[in-house]
Amino acid sequence: IEGFPYQRILVLGLAKTGTAVSQVLKKEGFKVLVSDLSAKETDENVKVLKDLGVTVHLGEPSLQLLEDVDVIIKNPGIPYTNTLLVEAEKKHLPILTEIELLAYMIDVPIIAITGSNGKTTTTTLTEKMLAKSNKNVVAAGNIGKVATDIAYELTQDQTLVLELSSFQLMGVNNFRPTVSVLLNLFEAHLDYHGDFSAYQEAKARIFRAQQSTDYLVYNADNEAVSHAVKSAQATKIPFSSKRLLKNGGYIKNQALYFKDTKIIDIKDIKLVGDHNLENILASSISALLTGATIEGIRAVLTTFTGVKHRLQFVDEKNGVKYYNDSKATNTLATITALEAFRSPIRLIAGGLDRGNGFDDLIPHLKNVSGIYLYGETKDKLKETATKVPVPHIVTGESLAEVTLEAAKDAQPGEIVLLSPACASWDQFSNFEIRGDIFIEAVHTL
Ligand code: ADP
Repeated sequence: IEGFPYQRILVLGLAKTGTAVSQVLKKEGFKVLVSDLSAKETDENVKVLKDLGVTVHLGEPSLQLLEDVDVIIKNPGIPYTNTLLVEAEKKHLPILTEIELLAYMIDVPIIAITGSNGKTTTTTLTEKMLAKSNKNVVAAGNIGKVATDIAYELTQDQTLVLELSSFQLMGVNNFRPTVSVLLNLFEAHLDYHGDFSAYQEAKARIFRAQQSTDYLVYNADNEAVSHAVKSAQATKIPFSSKRLLKNGGYIKNQALYFKDTKIIDIKDIKLVGDHNLENILASSISALLTGATIEGIRAVLTTFTGVKHRLQFVDEKNGVKYYNDSKATNTLATITALEAFRSPIRLIAGGLDRGNGFDDLIPHLKNVSGIYLYGETKDKLKETATKVPVPHIVTGESLAEVTLEAAKDAQPGEIVLLSPACASWDQFSNFEIRGDIFIEAVHTL
């Protein structure tokens, strides 16, 4: 870490990120103080940090802590309404996230990806495209590995692909990616950011330190995005799935293009869904800008069947294709999935009842030949399906049970889709486990 203008650092929030950051900072000779509300003396990471000589404060932090620090590096999940942070703001102490450290750590090409939806898919695609083009590439950030940790081990020949949330971006000033990607801005996460403009402002920090030699790849079809990028200094590269943008990414004659270069015919792409065409345009452009080849990109797009639990192709049995979209924990995500197929769909849905209705689904259920419902919301969903009406409505107790029913009814050429439109917590500990149980049920059919 070179040139970071602070010496005494308070790391707020331990978990995976705070632990990794504290370790790196300590090894680099900084004075590190850690505060965490819920960690315990006996936790392995607390022991490791103490052994390194880090001062660890557990439980409710005293405001006194702020007397001895120059900067706070906070866990992205901690809200700015936190008492310590409110006090720090009064004292004009800078509040950063670990992503800011990258500005002082590495000098390799960075592709940073954000947006309300599609981050993980686009990050995964970009990483794979570069890897298939024989580039030494590593992905980190919101996608799993802690960015600081990865950056600490990075060698000069590597390329870093980062998935960044608005929470992470709130705390950056000088972070400067070679390519920044802004996929879309929807009215999500407003509880944390307060209002839409604050959320937009957070996302816009991805390109804030960029110069004209850097690139900003953005979705020209999304109004909020087009508005947000106006202030950017970077060389802007728009993409659109609706218009011919000859200076960026676009679709022509059922094929994807970047400027004059044809990337691939849509029929050769394994990923389904129009929304994925946007993710593919964004990732292909970013990969091309950082040294990927068209061959490498095609090799990924003709084989990659999706990030796990996100409209992921599972298997084909007796002419029926099975897709796992367990990540769809709300109505909007399920609508996106329903719009991805032209063949009739057997939809499996249901889960935690958050009090909302499901009638937003109605215009998108036309193509649904049967609906298979379970979980807390099964009766509400049944009511919605009856209004369409969906020709065949089945309710059951478990995901495995209704999957079996859907499989029995499905005709060759149809799709069986798990896209629950609900969180999983009524029956599962997370959506990953729900998806795994579906996959298992399909494999044992
Ligand atoms: P994130 O990492 O931003 O949550 P994912 O790649 O995990 O995004 O995709 C999550 C869900 O978001 C998908 O299952 C799909 O329903 C929706 N989605 C993905 N990409 C897009 C897009 N470009 N536009 C709109 N919705 C999308």
